[in-house]
Amino acid sequence: MDALITFALVFLFGSAVGSFLNVVIYRIPAGLSLLHPPSRCPKCHTRLKPYDNVPVLGWLWLKGRCRYCRAPISPRYPLIEALTGALFVAAFWLGGMTWATVGYWLLLSWLVALAFIDLDTLTLPNVLTQSGLVLGLAIKFALPMVQGAPWPSPIHSLLSGIVGAVLGIWIFDLITIFASAALGQTAMGGGDAKLAAMLGAWLGWQGVLLSGFLACVVGAVVGGGAIALKLISRRQPVPFGPFLAIAAVITLFWGEPLIGAYRAIFFP
Ligand SMILES: [Zn+2]
Repeated sequence: MDALITFALVFLFGSAVGSFLNVVIYRIPAGLSLLHPPSRCPKCHTRLKPYDNVPVLGWLWLKGRCRYCRAPISPRYPLIEALTGALFVAAFWLGGMTWATVGYWLLLSWLVALAFIDLDTLTLPNVLTQSGLVLGLAIKFALPMVQGAPWPSPIHSLLSGIVGAVLGIWIFDLITIFASAALGQTAMGGGDAKLAAMLGAWLGWQGVLLSGFLACVVGAVVGGGAIALKLISRRQPVPFGPFLAIAAVITLFWGEPLIGAYRAIFFP
């Protein structure tokens, strides 16, 4: 029972972060301030009441419409809140109440924001990829200190993040070369390389290798499927950031068994 309440609280916290990420996703590409003005209806600009601003539930009890002008509010808002809540619960399930879990939560928040901004605008803002890279390295350095484990030392941990970041850029260059050769076009932007560097800083060299590979697999399946189903044309640019973000989430949650299985197959 206690565990259930804890998970519910973590979900609530995650969905509240998701609510803020909705603001980030909408305002950062538009160059608007994150703090001002407070949440309001995009149509009539009436400020939301605190009880209408409750994650997920607010949208449900307003039945997806503004209380004042009845303009429809996209179901994407509560979906991003629920998604962030669920990711936070999964990270908590994995790491418990530790500093590592706080680190996972930060990475997941950055990934949700970047994936949806890339979907909307086909760009990955520098302000997010660069801050994410610096934050990843800072956490790599700080975690061993707060965890108090004898290994790795803060310096070794930081170095593994830097190696991962550099490798991320190389992997990304390789992916771009192969994708250009295979598709005859490239939808990769400089933002993707910075996101790959950011992932390397957080996930280390093994994690970023796995992420790069998984992003190609997910991208080929989803992109190929969408072309086969005629949802998109072959010429249409497809953002790669969401695939990198999905791959990073898979690596975060299942990276160790996947890397372990790979080792068992190729280095028995
Ligand atoms: Zn309104």
